[in-house]
Amino acid sequence: MKLITLKKGREDSLTRRHPWIFSGAIANVDGELQSGQTVAIRTSDGRICGHGAYSPHSQIALRIWTFSAQEEVSADWMRERLERVIHHRIKQQEKNANDCGRIVYAEADGLPGLIVDRYGDFLVCQFLSAGAEYWKGTFVSILEKAIPCSGIYERSDAKSRGKEGLPVRSGVLAGESPPDLIQVRTGEDHFLVDIRQGHKTGFYLDQRDNRLRVRPYMKAAQVLDCFTYSGGFAISALKGGAERVTCMDSSEAALDLTRRNISLNDIDLSRAELVRNDVFTALRGYRDSGRNFDVVVLDPPKFASSRRDVDRACRGYKDINMLACRLLAPGGILVTFSCSQHISLELFQKAVAFGALDAKRDVQILEWLHQASDHPMALNFPEGNYLKGLICKVW
Ligand code: SAH
Repeated sequence: MKLITLKKGREDSLTRRHPWIFSGAIANVDGELQSGQTVAIRTSDGRICGHGAYSPHSQIALRIWTFSAQEEVSADWMRERLERVIHHRIKQQEKNANDCGRIVYAEADGLPGLIVDRYGDFLVCQFLSAGAEYWKGTFVSILEKAIPCSGIYERSDAKSRGKEGLPVRSGVLAGESPPDLIQVRTGEDHFLVDIRQGHKTGFYLDQRDNRLRVRPYMKAAQVLDCFTYSGGFAISALKGGAERVTCMDSSEAALDLTRRNISLNDIDLSRAELVRNDVFTALRGYRDSGRNFDVVVLDPPKFASSRRDVDRACRGYKDINMLACRLLAPGGILVTFSCSQHISLELFQKAVAFGALDAKRDVQILEWLHQASDHPMALNFPEGNYLKGLICKVW
């Protein structure tokens, strides 16, 4: 087993069982290592304190598989860890009457860099770290045996692969090639998912529970669903009795999918207005023309990709929430999200508060929302907690 030795005093994160070690903490690398190869990690005083995957190109030079000195990281070890996660998630999904959901959530499930999502009969994988890439073949064969499915598809096209020195890649890994669109069910709702071209692995699974949480606020409402993507919140609003929903996105492909998803759920398309526009521009336009809504949903893409973006992102959240508050009828509902990992809940609340102030509206938080329970946060990896949302009453 190859060894990596840490600098003196740089073992703190390991003591807290954090799964990342940055390149600056490494004192010595024992010989030539392959990208993703498993190494034993040694503290400066010579103790072995875990085993992890080495990523020579990344600032996150090591991702820990195990904090044990004794455990041998092998295909059997991967099988045991992966099967434990799969078993728990599949049971959870069956209980919730969903045929889609996250099966493996990377670091949060003790499998750094590995994402596995299920959409009906297909699995979609992302190998986002050198270590996950190294064990790809093993993971695919374990998944094939453990989960009956028609095929396994790779969507390793996230930008973060570049930081690991890995090329983007997508395509069939096992079994059949997936159809262009896969139909899935979350509770009573049906969606078409494009696992080849869609965002992330095809669908925003993390918002599944939140779409249900907002439903009780929708009765007879005029709703504006900003950043609709495939219509998740819009369909929930329509099923919750909204009179009319305006679905807004800058992407024509997203709006096409929304249109198809509305029909798939047997909802009359005349209750939906589909608008292709930039949300910031459109909200200003509605403000100028005096258009009002009873409910506004804001689910924008990530505004902060790194710590450097935090200030700019906060201004974005403030502006967009200010604009939304201005459009709400008195007593209206603002449902607002941030999926930026670098923006804490506290900071996000502040941005919304400043938005409310500028809009000269009194705003109360009624409910706090989070990512779905199949995207858990491991206490030793708070970075995995990224999605936060508020349901607010706007006076
Ligand atoms: N609410 C969705 C997920 C939203 S993802 C759900 O529940 O599934 C973000 C969406 O915002 C994407 O579809 C993207 O096309 C769209 N988008 C990004 N920037 C935008 C902008 N400035 N104006 C309008 N839409 C935008």
